[in-house]
Amino acid sequence: MTDFTLKIDSDGVGVITWDTVGKSMNVMSRDSMALLNDLFDQALNDDAVKGIVITSGKDSFAGGMDLNVLAAIREEYKDDPAKGLFEFTMNGHHALRKIERAGMDPKTNKGGKPVAAALPGTALGIGLEVPLACHRIFAADNPKAKIGLPEIMVGIFPGAGGTTRLVRKMGAMAASPLLLEGKLNNPQGALKAGVIDEVVPADELLDAAKAWVLSEPKIVKPWDEKGYKMPGGAPYHPAGFMTFVGASAMVNGKTQGVYPAAKALLSAVYEGALVPFDTALKIEARYFTQVLMNPSSSAMIRSLFINKEALEKGANRPDVADQKVSQVGIIGAGMMGAGIALVSALAGIKVVLIDAKQEAADKGKDYTATYMDKGITRKKVTAEKKEAVLGLINATTDYAALKDCDLIVEAVFEDVGVKADVTAKVQAVTGPDCVFATNTSTLPITELAKAAKDAEKFIGIHFFSPVDKMMLVEIIKGVKTGDVAVAKALDFVRQIRKTPIVVNDERFFYANRCIIPYINEGIRMVKEGVEPALIENAAKLVGMPLGPLQLTDETSIDLGVKIAKATKAAMGDAYDDAQDEVLFWMFDEGRLGRKSNSGFYAYDEKGKRQGLWEGLSAKYPTADEQPDLIDVQHRLLFAQTLEAVRALEENVLEDIREGDVGAILGWGFAPWSGGPFSWLDIIGSPYAAERCDQLTEMFGERFKTPELLREMADKNQSFYGRFGVKAKAA
Ligand code: NAD
Repeated sequence: MTDFTLKIDSDGVGVITWDTVGKSMNVMSRDSMALLNDLFDQALNDDAVKGIVITSGKDSFAGGMDLNVLAAIREEYKDDPAKGLFEFTMNGHHALRKIERAGMDPKTNKGGKPVAAALPGTALGIGLEVPLACHRIFAADNPKAKIGLPEIMVGIFPGAGGTTRLVRKMGAMAASPLLLEGKLNNPQGALKAGVIDEVVPADELLDAAKAWVLSEPKIVKPWDEKGYKMPGGAPYHPAGFMTFVGASAMVNGKTQGVYPAAKALLSAVYEGALVPFDTALKIEARYFTQVLMNPSSSAMIRSLFINKEALEKGANRPDVADQKVSQVGIIGAGMMGAGIALVSALAGIKVVLIDAKQEAADKGKDYTATYMDKGITRKKVTAEKKEAVLGLINATTDYAALKDCDLIVEAVFEDVGVKADVTAKVQAVTGPDCVFATNTSTLPITELAKAAKDAEKFIGIHFFSPVDKMMLVEIIKGVKTGDVAVAKALDFVRQIRKTPIVVNDERFFYANRCIIPYINEGIRMVKEGVEPALIENAAKLVGMPLGPLQLTDETSIDLGVKIAKATKAAMGDAYDDAQDEVLFWMFDEGRLGRKSNSGFYAYDEKGKRQGLWEGLSAKYPTADEQPDLIDVQHRLLFAQTLEAVRALEENVLEDIREGDVGAILGWGFAPWSGGPFSWLDIIGSPYAAERCDQLTEMFGERFKTPELLREMADKNQSFYGRFGVKAKAA
């Protein structure tokens, strides 16, 4: 075990270096925490040591806690997991509090050894909580480094003293974006915000920290001194009172009350502010344990941290040689093609961007120029970087330029004939090893592959719009798609730092298959006379980022009409057209959604959403008796979730982890739940099946319990239990 090492130099500085073996970034495990504690004791008790510096052997400091630890503790303390988690948290507090007190006399605050943290780069989560326990934090002036506490993003909050210390150091108001939104700063930003204390050139980092610990500095923390007052005021101070009232309202407004971590964090801060520091740490630990015991938090950690990372690292990658892309050809420089060119060039990949006309190709490339210009305005990008990225994109109409591409991504019009024509033109130029991908959102991959020379090298790589913001990429295997093409697509997605899921070819693949029933359910409720505001609010109160009507406005009514017509043509009598009347009427009214400044919502001239359009209720009067909130919510959630279960039954999904991660990243499925399968596990399969029976009786066959769910309900099984640790659907 060599995660931490201690070296005492000739000046009497004990340097504790963190260097997790076999990882590119340090992560804290239970063993490494114990080792840090032991080494710190050693340094503290060694008379030769005058001061201590904690640093890293890597170019970053640490990426955070290994969250697998939490699952391991839960497993270990099966009978009383809360006890195990609380003890674990308190042990962490004791270790870090020891660093903070550093041997000072508890009464007089005299004595003690100065401890500095020296951060060469990124310091996240517990990677910042350890430094916060030190007496001074130095960071190298590395603009790429990220410093912060992102725990809230995965459904927990900083539980190793970060919450209590940051609030006491900065005040509740200043700390709130860092704690409640997980805002990360670069070192200069962190210095300005007051999170860290000094930024120095990288090659002076260790010397600066050493010089400081040897300078006999004052080390007692303000909150350990008599008369400490919290910056900005504690809750009962007039200024503090305003902060806490406002924060409470803001948190509820932003989370709609569905994220237990945000609420618990606020309680820990509020209650902690009223008591001495050590008691505050205990309060933090109790709320932290409470959050860890909430099924929502475990589900979020599992999907948004553990499984997301596993998929990004190639959990479902076929075992073939590295397929890293060196040059990508993108055909169609429209909205999607331009975005794909941008993210590829940002990843350092050479791009040939083709469109039918040179102006269109140039316009596609301009998208990258504009993006980089915005970065320059925000001082995040240099002019040289812009030139370098643009230099990677060759915008042209000449297919011959594709000769050396090893991957093609086609993003031309959604038309089988146009796509077939383009495929043939591309393949007249490219070599036999080049993989051809289509970005189609609705056309079957197996069909489109017929136009290709080699269907084994043909695949779907489905991006979401806007490409630079949406983190999910859905990779679709046609019937004949081979392993090399899958690996190529996965390696490409890894290069552009997005999260992949791999699914099989069926109508609308996975994401659109699930989101369309959500939209349709919302629209059919309008027709039934459900108050539109109830529909929208029910969706938000259950954690959906956009209500179904707003989402329709964003994606456009005409797209909805197009999909409805195409689906009807393909499905014939089996097509359920309940939503079409409202949708087609809106289309006929010319209310196409945000893009026409009119849709289910009204908009002002500047395109700002004003509220639900009154004409909607005039045409579809709201019923006197409105349904219960829970029924509206369950209609909206089950519409998506049952589609996910059917996708699993039909083997469109091969892995429930992909179903959950894809749902959150692809269309924002209630992130607090961990995704549709996690949600079913939270409510339990017997209750889910019972609810489906009730919804079927009330609203129709589309809520019919899928056979798989029925069987699982009979056996009282969970999805993650049944589909195993590796979570592969058998
Ligand atoms: P778009 O209309 O913005 O762009 C299409 C581009 O392809 C245009 O610039 C057009 O000039 C070009 N083009 C058409 N025929 C061509 C040809 N024969 N040779 C070269 N260029 C040609 O469309 P878009 O929204 O970017 O969609 C492109 C593809 O991506 C479609 O298959 C669509 O289904 C899919 N898609 C779209 C979205 C979305 O939200 N817009 C999301 C996922 C996937």
